[in-house]
Amino acid sequence: MADKRDYYEVLGVQKNASDDEIKKAYRKMAMKYHPDKNPGDKEAEEKFKEANEAYEVLSDPDKKSKYDRFGFAGVDPSYGAGQGGFGGFGGFGDFGGFGGAGGMNFDDIFDMFGGFGGGRRSQARRNGPQKGRDLQKTITIDFTDALFGCSKQIELSKDVKCKTCGGSGCKAGTGKKTCDQCGGSGQISQVSNTAFGRFQNIITCPKCGGTGQVVESPCPDCSGTGRNRKSVKIKVDIPAGVDNDSIVTLRGQGEPGVNGGPDGDLYIVVNVRPHSTYKRRGDDLYLDLPITFDQAALGAKVQVPGFGETYSYTITPGTQTGSSFRLKGKGVPNVRTGKKGDLYVKVVVEIPTKLSRKEKKAIEEMARNVTSEAYPKKSKFEKLRF
Ligand SMILES: [Zn+2]
Ligand SMILES: [Zn+2]
Repeated sequence: MADKRDYYEVLGVQKNASDDEIKKAYRKMAMKYHPDKNPGDKEAEEKFKEANEAYEVLSDPDKKSKYDRFGFAGVDPSYGAGQGGFGGFGGFGDFGGFGGAGGMNFDDIFDMFGGFGGGRRSQARRNGPQKGRDLQKTITIDFTDALFGCSKQIELSKDVKCKTCGGSGCKAGTGKKTCDQCGGSGQISQVSNTAFGRFQNIITCPKCGGTGQVVESPCPDCSGTGRNRKSVKIKVDIPAGVDNDSIVTLRGQGEPGVNGGPDGDLYIVVNVRPHSTYKRRGDDLYLDLPITFDQAALGAKVQVPGFGETYSYTITPGTQTGSSFRLKGKGVPNVRTGKKGDLYVKVVVEIPTKLSRKEKKAIEEMARNVTSEAYPKKSKFEKLRF
């Protein structure tokens, strides 16, 4: 190992180079001598290994300081014992297990090249079954329809399986043949010229789209694609209890699958129009119920207008404005369990307006006759001094 070059020299940097300079120098070397760029070039491979080894040491503060003080012996105990070098650089065909060289790994380099080899290869393999595209459609329904459930017809434009050829894309009586461009593999290699040189990329075969097969004679109705764009009408059953932004999934109503894959799904996003009087929170309903002063004071049987039915409720004498009562199970059915929520009714005492002379007189008379004991809170406040 006497011919081993100094690590700083290998990367072409000064002894006092910053971490950044070291990293930059290493990148430059790694790209220049990368085996993918220099196939079969033993010298480049050696230079590449050398640069990696140098960077592994110089990018690690601990190893770097030992190297600075003791030279190769400081970072490699076997140095001088005849073994030399860092393990794990063999087999350049496989970069999978390389690992990071002090914070920089091969992904960084791959990113710089826009991808070659490595894990990206698998993305090009597209000839397996694929699920069809999922579709989404938004519909708006009335508050009441959401409570009881409804059935709506929607119209949307989507790809459907060609009826003539059943999705095969082949003209009647003909079949598929192996793609002549990729030889059936679904992939082809493409040489691209970049600023860093020529690279070989594995890409999906454009002729067969990765399936490895092409139609012998295309179906006249779909030009061999096996699908047609159609405007279709679909009936959607909206279950009782859906809320605003609920999603109803129609399995298999998306676009057709590819290579025997399942059809995509259709997601119906439900918008519910707000109600003029009722509010909804989850499965519970809320209503403000106006009552008169005398109903609140004397108690009364009131009618609560529900959906499709009316509920009777007895207001106790002395009910204050803003107080609520609950009608259990008169809310919205839960969309999954069907269990109904509750209806909360808030009573609001309505103060009479537009009074006639006679009505004013009646209220004045009442005021004279109702003593302050009838208004305990107000009486208490009148005595307060701060
Ligand atoms: Zn067809
Ligand atoms: Zn092909």
